[in-house]
Amino acid sequence: LAVGHMIGLYNPVLGVMLLGSGLTGTILFDFRRIAGPFMLMVLMVMVLAWLTVNYYLEYAPLLRLDPVSKFHLSGIWIMLMMLVSAPFVIGVSLITWLLLARWHEREDMVRLLSNTDMLTGLPNRRALFMQIEHEMHRAKRTGEPLALAMMDLDHFKQVNDTWGHAAGDTVLKQLGELLPTLLRSVDLFGRVGGEEFVIALPHTTAVAASRVVERCRSAIETRPVLLDDGRSLSISASFGLCLAPKLKDDTTLQDLLERADRALYRAKHNGRNRVEV
Ligand code: GH3
Ligand code: MG
Ligand code: MG
Repeated sequence: LAVGHMIGLYNPVLGVMLLGSGLTGTILFDFRRIAGPFMLMVLMVMVLAWLTVNYYLEYAPLLRLDPVSKFHLSGIWIMLMMLVSAPFVIGVSLITWLLLARWHEREDMVRLLSNTDMLTGLPNRRALFMQIEHEMHRAKRTGEPLALAMMDLDHFKQVNDTWGHAAGDTVLKQLGELLPTLLRSVDLFGRVGGEEFVIALPHTTAVAASRVVERCRSAIETRPVLLDDGRSLSISASFGLCLAPKLKDDTTLQDLLERADRALYRAKHNGRNRVEV
């Protein structure tokens, strides 16, 4: 505002500064945080304009010798210019607002795409691991137990070879619909690889975790997968379960995954379609 007073309110540079700061603010921060200060600034500009128009303040004292500002004594001139520029400012604001809305929409889409496995609709590896790490922090703080299971479909290569790759995709898709029905809303699960899934059960005891994972295994085994052409096929999955009654401070997600993976390896080795702890 001090600059505004010195170089005159009706100065393109000032317009760019005032409008630009507000618009840049809305790009960087949430609109609601910018709206208040921006309105205040507009109000102060109006006060400054009023003071100038009524000769309480000199217009653009810094540019007194500038030939352009030789009209500065005319209040009508200033008011007229402000009136003329109003549609322009409104237009630019509107366009910017539309662009920003579009940009926010795209940002939401990018966030969704980067966190979701598009075949199953479940969280992808990156998103899931971030969620589990968050949960591990909490479990370390509260001392609550945490269970983590790694699941791998059995003979999935054969499913693809026998029924076709599209059928394999349908199996994965239907698994993405089945899993949420078997787990609680606080449980974390997602697809971490081709036919590999990870399930994390926060504040769950060893007995309860074993029961939950066994329920998943049995549901996958007994629920046939319906293909688009009407045929149906049965699948099974093996599970490696890692139980952490009390997480140590230096335990990482990688540690838990390795343990679950070793148990999964045993489950495969011991005949598949089973849970090893
Ligand atoms: P195992 O019981 O030992 O796990 O045998 P498997 O055949 O499941 O194991 P393997 O890891 O050898 O094969 C996994 C197969 O999963 C290979 C790959 O073609 C298939 N696969 C991975 N991602 C996808 C996918 O997105 N869609 C389909 N249809 N198949 C996939
Ligand atoms: Mg595999
Ligand atoms: Mg497999």
